[in-house]
Amino acid sequence: MADIQAKIDDLRSQAEAAIAGASSVEALEELRVRYLGRKAELTQILRGIGELAPEERGPVGQAANAARQALEALLERRRSELEADQLERGLAAEAIDVTLPGSPAVPVGSPNLLIRTQREIEDIFCGLGYRVMEGPEVELDYYNFTALNHPPGHPARMAQDTFYVDPATLDPELRLVPAPTLPGEVVDGDPLPPGPEDVVLRTHTSPMQVRAMEAQEPPIFIVVPGRCYRSDPFDATHSPIFHQVEGLAVSETITLADLKGTLDEFARAMFGPERRSRFRPGFFPFTEPSVEVDVSCFRCGGTGELPDGSRDSICKGTGWIEILGSGMVDPNVFGFVKANGYDPDAIQGFAFGMGIDRIAMLKYGVTDLRKFFENDVRVLGQFR
Ligand SMILES: [Zn+2]
Repeated sequence: MADIQAKIDDLRSQAEAAIAGASSVEALEELRVRYLGRKAELTQILRGIGELAPEERGPVGQAANAARQALEALLERRRSELEADQLERGLAAEAIDVTLPGSPAVPVGSPNLLIRTQREIEDIFCGLGYRVMEGPEVELDYYNFTALNHPPGHPARMAQDTFYVDPATLDPELRLVPAPTLPGEVVDGDPLPPGPEDVVLRTHTSPMQVRAMEAQEPPIFIVVPGRCYRSDPFDATHSPIFHQVEGLAVSETITLADLKGTLDEFARAMFGPERRSRFRPGFFPFTEPSVEVDVSCFRCGGTGELPDGSRDSICKGTGWIEILGSGMVDPNVFGFVKANGYDPDAIQGFAFGMGIDRIAMLKYGVTDLRKFFENDVRVLGQFR
């Protein structure tokens, strides 16, 4: 029995020294296995107590248990110390002074004027209760033309010089309809006209009208900003890439008067509290009636004349500036989403579309559209 007691004391002092000297959490774990694991000597002693003489069991059991508890406590304490140490060292090594300037210090940038103008427009309509939605730039003809009341062969399709996309270049998972055909593709000897299955770069953000109505029952109040594409020249007032905000409001009670009030509010928020708007008859395939909307000129105050008596070049002397096209949604468009809760006999709405580029040019006096795309910081830096 004295032998076993001595053995326990010996194991305990060995382990205590080893634990005190352990330099990492990993080393500590090895020591735990060696001294307290299933195959450790102390564990074997505790297991073998039942085989000892009855008078030995008490004292040996007490000594072995005391040794085990002491070592467990020691291990735990040492582990805390080592972990705190490790954390301390890690923090010291990774210390970053976030208040230092960048290296090298760089001037802070700002959004392009087009994005800024887009956000201004979004803010105004969010304030009127609209939601902002975005949609795909590579779009099916169905949404871009067909469901917006441009049947195949409709002259308005030709008026918008459209970029077509070869559907074979698209990821098959993104293709929404099977086997689209390209315009002009010859089938059985006859070239096909553009049709609903063709794929285009959207020529306006209006395709989201139908997509939004497919996804949501009326009432609906959305604006859709985004890039659009038409085969236009690149000059001071044209670009093959331009930016549009489409608006759509549909309910059982929307009228043309609501459109007028909404656009008046927009004109005042965007161009100043004195602005008025006026409607002129217009034509768009997907609205009926359609109107062109002018806002009273913010430079000459609607007189067409500058203080020195010269003609105002912004409004060309008319006192009015054309800012967008709009109208009441054509019932034929609702016909495409009738199954989604848009019964053309029960609901009505208005839609409008405005060019962000044009609004930005007007509001900030930019005379050349190309300035928006050239990334010349001397120009862009003026608008922060
Ligand atoms: Zn003017």
